[in-house]
Amino acid sequence: MTIREVSSFAAGQWILPCRGARNITSAISGDVIATAGNDNLSVQTMLDYARTVGGPALRALTFHDRAKMLKALALHLRDHRQAIYDLSFDTGATQSDHLIDVDGGIGTMLVFASKGRKEMPDAQVYLDGEIEHLSHNGTFIGHHICTPLQGVAIHINAFNFPVWGMLEKLAPTFLAGVPAIVKPATNSCYVTELCVKIMLASEIIPTGALQLVSGGLGDMLDHLTCQDAVAFTGSADTALKLRSNSSILGNSVRFTSEADSLNASILGPDALPGTPEFDLFVKEVHREMTTKAGQKCTAIRRIIAPEPAIDAVIEAISTRLSKTIIGDPRLDITQMGALVSSDQKRDVLEKASLIGTEAERVFGDPENFNIVGADAERGAFVPPMLYHCAKPDTATHVHGTEAFGPVSTIMGYSDTAHAIKLVNKGQGSLVASVITHDPKIACEIAIGAAAFHGRLYFNNRESMKESTGHGSPLPHLTHGGPGRAGGGEELGGVRGVKHYMQRTSIQASPDILTAIGKKWVPGSKEFQNPSHPFTRTFAELNIGETLNTPPRKITLNDIAHFAEFTGDTFYAHMDDEAARRNPFFPGRVAHGYLLLSFAAGMFVEPNEGPVLANTGLNGLRFMKPVSAGDSIKVRLTVAKKTRRTDKYGEVCWHVTLTNQDDEIVAEYELLTMNSY
Ligand code: NDP
Repeated sequence: MTIREVSSFAAGQWILPCRGARNITSAISGDVIATAGNDNLSVQTMLDYARTVGGPALRALTFHDRAKMLKALALHLRDHRQAIYDLSFDTGATQSDHLIDVDGGIGTMLVFASKGRKEMPDAQVYLDGEIEHLSHNGTFIGHHICTPLQGVAIHINAFNFPVWGMLEKLAPTFLAGVPAIVKPATNSCYVTELCVKIMLASEIIPTGALQLVSGGLGDMLDHLTCQDAVAFTGSADTALKLRSNSSILGNSVRFTSEADSLNASILGPDALPGTPEFDLFVKEVHREMTTKAGQKCTAIRRIIAPEPAIDAVIEAISTRLSKTIIGDPRLDITQMGALVSSDQKRDVLEKASLIGTEAERVFGDPENFNIVGADAERGAFVPPMLYHCAKPDTATHVHGTEAFGPVSTIMGYSDTAHAIKLVNKGQGSLVASVITHDPKIACEIAIGAAAFHGRLYFNNRESMKESTGHGSPLPHLTHGGPGRAGGGEELGGVRGVKHYMQRTSIQASPDILTAIGKKWVPGSKEFQNPSHPFTRTFAELNIGETLNTPPRKITLNDIAHFAEFTGDTFYAHMDDEAARRNPFFPGRVAHGYLLLSFAAGMFVEPNEGPVLANTGLNGLRFMKPVSAGDSIKVRLTVAKKTRRTDKYGEVCWHVTLTNQDDEIVAEYELLTMNSY
């Protein structure tokens, strides 16, 4: 059998392992299948290459360009995923595990690609939040902007998800415009290496944006600056060691960590045997114990159930576990594969023994279990093991020792307050799930336990068909947890992208803010064009281009007609005396929607032209009532332009309605699609 030499990709070159590189064994056979590591890598050259080649190339692109790049990369990986599946079996993972790792990683990239297009601008500066009004006359205002860090992101990943672990960090990093150096865990780095090779061969990523270290990182962390960031996933011990690095501390290098956690699942007091929730609970616990052979940072380590239901829960989980086929992950019938290595097996058994000092093992015997198609002596197989802890209030290991394998402990609770106390004893977890059909219980647990958990997952008969599973972090939502879970946060849509950008508050005049943010700010310069803006194409329109309409008088007849036509006969538009009793109105007033409709009629250019469709309206506020006899006029200004396709783009118009005294009556943003 040829032994795979797992290379690093440093400063544009593939570098083979050197003499003395680490051996990597197959989780199934125990045979050496690969070597990785090269002490001669020049870490400073790699950092410089990322900072001077990859960073500028990424920063030259807009968020939309980067989002398109992510989509292309994800689709390219999808086309080549079979090769990654084939290689991944040796990590002990089954085909269903590959779907989580490989397809899950690709899916995460696609979500970031989509969010980048929809929620971020087609520009290099991201505007964070709304304008802050800092002065009486509006000549000095504030806004927050985010721009990419000008250094490099170091991603140190765990062994359990060699693909997802890399892609879930790369997607927000690239979208932010920051190059990355990926350091996978050595045990499964051959899978990551293949994935990196596929990505680089596609030539979709700019030169210098992605480098790979297979094996040790050397002293790379000693050379980091304030423009760099480290994202770590792995054990709490390593996290502590790395975050204590003097360069990281001295230069305030961003360090985010996602470490082991004692995640729990609570069976609600209402979810007793015979309910759909009870069956759902058993199914979720079984899935979390056996997927990836329990080597998931989010796996359920503690099962918290009502005391009277404990025996029934143990029996139901044990019955399901007893039907789980363990063996060679390449076989179709295998449901649970092996741990990643014999070292990991030793570690899991040691930790399980520690838990066994406080809890009785009620299912699974590591000395006696069936394995199909593989050798128990050579492969890193362990059976699922279920423990029962009778005294969870005084026990410590069951709440503090993570056996990173198919090991869980069940414990009973007396009432909801007790369940909350137990779930919080993990001292910070990535996720806790609650299986209940009772919203009051869900609310009580959310208030009592959310502060100790990065994610709370509620599931019941209503949501179970479409729910995504206790163990799945989603790209849309944050992943990470307080305390022993590492105190970090990843993913969460645009929130995750901001981890790789600097937020800067800008205080300036409206004109300066418009220039920086590429979005027109009220108070900054307006200019007129002889032709109506609706006759001008997306490309021809300029930010700040404004149309001011002549005034239109509002009559009582208009109000009565609108009320009758639309059916909106709310008393404030119909009954002068009743309206006067309302503290908001001077008497009978025009409908807000009447004003909007008139505004559209006042600014529209009716002939066929480049405006294709009105696609929405943001931030509508009615600020002053309009009575019969008042008149309104409209100011329509091009605020922002966003390319959507090669044929059309979105124009965001700032619209202000004012009355005869120039007081603002209503304000909003109108969105249209305009052809090029
Ligand atoms: P480690 O913390 O040992 O390793 C995690 C990553 O850190 C690996 O890439 C590892 O590389 C790297 N690393 C270790 N030491 C250094 C160092 N001095 N400088 C730079 N990088 C370093 O975790 P393992 O992957 O070995 O798993 C051990 C335990 O961690 C598990 O049993 C489990 O409890 C927990 N874990 C938690 C996970 C989570 O997602 N929360 C995921 C996986 C594990 P290398 O492999 O080359 O040593």
